[in-house]
Amino acid sequence: MTAGIINGTEIAARIRAEVAQKVAQRKASGLSIPGLATVLVGEDPASQTYVRSKHRACEEAGINSFGFTLPADTPQEKLEGLISELNQDERVHGILLQSPIPKGLDEQKALSVMSIKKDVDGFHPVNIGRLAQKGPDPLFVSCTPAGIMVLLDKVLPSLEGMNAVVLGRSNIVGMPVALLLVRANATVTICHSRTRDIPTITRNADVLVAAIGRTEMVRGDWIKPGAVVIDVGINRVEDSSQKKGYRLVGDVAFDEACQVAGAITPVPGGVGPMTIAMLMSNTLKAAEI
Ligand code: NDP
Repeated sequence: MTAGIINGTEIAARIRAEVAQKVAQRKASGLSIPGLATVLVGEDPASQTYVRSKHRACEEAGINSFGFTLPADTPQEKLEGLISELNQDERVHGILLQSPIPKGLDEQKALSVMSIKKDVDGFHPVNIGRLAQKGPDPLFVSCTPAGIMVLLDKVLPSLEGMNAVVLGRSNIVGMPVALLLVRANATVTICHSRTRDIPTITRNADVLVAAIGRTEMVRGDWIKPGAVVIDVGINRVEDSSQKKGYRLVGDVAFDEACQVAGAITPVPGGVGPMTIAMLMSNTLKAAEI
């Protein structure tokens, strides 16, 4: 068997084009232009790169973006004060606090100040809590998990009754994905660093989501024939043949997995591009509600 490749780059590009079209329609009808405010605390180079690419994506979609940079030694009250101001700012529909924030600042406390209507990253404790409960849906689902569900929907329109295994239980990926899979009526097992005999568990998975940050840990013989495999991992491995001196690989041994899985996301070009696409989509939604 050779797995079908789930092309996240193409799917993300389509979502971004749809968002751009809807933003243009809003402009033409005299409605407000969606606006995203990013808050970056400190000078972490990776965070600076992520924030820049989010602003670029906004520009491409016709979304206004407002960048706020605070020094690493910003007091908690000042950070919360900025978020409160952005809550009141009518030009701003979505607020993104770039994670991680410097040690000494309380990210959860800062997020809880944010209006849930502007929480386009889906990390507000109320939005996370709603994900875990029956009752009102979260207003926003965090972007990587939401993107994973879009990718799954392309190959498995119904997950009802399927066995889904999620490797990883982080707040950012593993846990919200597991909650979304439960909401989609899959039967979900979450594995983590203390789980015993992971391969026996994954071999029973119709859907396998790997989000552990361990280079190619998932081998071909861990995968049930025909399963859908979503590889979230982004790991750098040295590669002198590349200009940068490294290449990116996932948590899944891709070549082995391709021989067994029914469909699989590549790294790069699978889950990665979906994150920004979903941020654009959430920002548009924030302007619509
Ligand atoms: P974290 O480090 O926060 O969480 C990793 C999870 O994997 C933890 O739950 C940990 O278990 C579990 N884990 C680690 N090692 C093992 C192991 N040997 N066996 C079983 N479980 C293990 O990572 P993130 O969730 O933030 O990210 C995971 C991966 O996804 C990373 O490679 C990251 O770069 C990538 N990523 C990609 C994104 C994208 O494509 N846009 C966005 C976000 C992340 P425990 O809880 O017990 O410690």
